[in-house]
Amino acid sequence: MNTAIFRFYAELNDFLPSALRHKAFDHPFRGTPAVKDTIESLNVPHTEVDLILINGVPATFSARLSDGDRVSVYPVFEALDIGPLVRLRPHPLRETRFLLDVHLGRLARSLRLLGFDSDYGNNYEDDELSDRATHEGRILLTRDRGLLKRSAIERGYCVRQTRPREQVLEILARFDLVGSINPFSRCMACNAVLRLVSKSEVRESVPAHVRDLHDDFTRCEGCGRVYWRGSHYDRLKLFVDSIEAQALLT
Ligand SMILES: [Zn+2]
Repeated sequence: MNTAIFRFYAELNDFLPSALRHKAFDHPFRGTPAVKDTIESLNVPHTEVDLILINGVPATFSARLSDGDRVSVYPVFEALDIGPLVRLRPHPLRETRFLLDVHLGRLARSLRLLGFDSDYGNNYEDDELSDRATHEGRILLTRDRGLLKRSAIERGYCVRQTRPREQVLEILARFDLVGSINPFSRCMACNAVLRLVSKSEVRESVPAHVRDLHDDFTRCEGCGRVYWRGSHYDRLKLFVDSIEAQALLT
């Protein structure tokens, strides 16, 4: 039996039993397994990992473990400064775009409200989620660790919180997005961007009393839905303001 010394950093420790967290520990293994398989055997999804150092040298997922190796494993974290080192991702993401699994519909709507590209469908099967995440360069958000272990998924994040509001704050903090909030710029129903339109353009689409009361309208370029600042807007604005205030404090 061989032994490697593993140490996991930052929130990767969430996946480990408490006795192994935030410290180096011996991990016995047979043969010469790929480091990726060993990491996942410790219950850490590979999609959570952005950098592996073996004996201080950046390694790929397919690197083989040898007896006595010291392995340091770092999380996917846009804000973590590991620039000079080789990241494991083949292509950096140009912007933070999400794909949410079927259980995270409320989180998807909240992220859209804040202006973040968040694809979601309540009928997406696991295979479709995997394909969409890969082809569209999206970060898969899910609470299903099994889904994140699929090798086709390049970027994924396991959402820890269970309450929708806490989940929003978690994602903002995790991906350092507080400064990128752009509320009411995206359709909460379909995720497409909203465009300012004149009152005359929406004459046929909104009730007369709405036309009488409001002058500013946006229309979704995807589903055609028209938005205006009615009572619903006030409630959403309160939500946005409170999230921003809380996110800045955390
Ligand atoms: Zn829409």
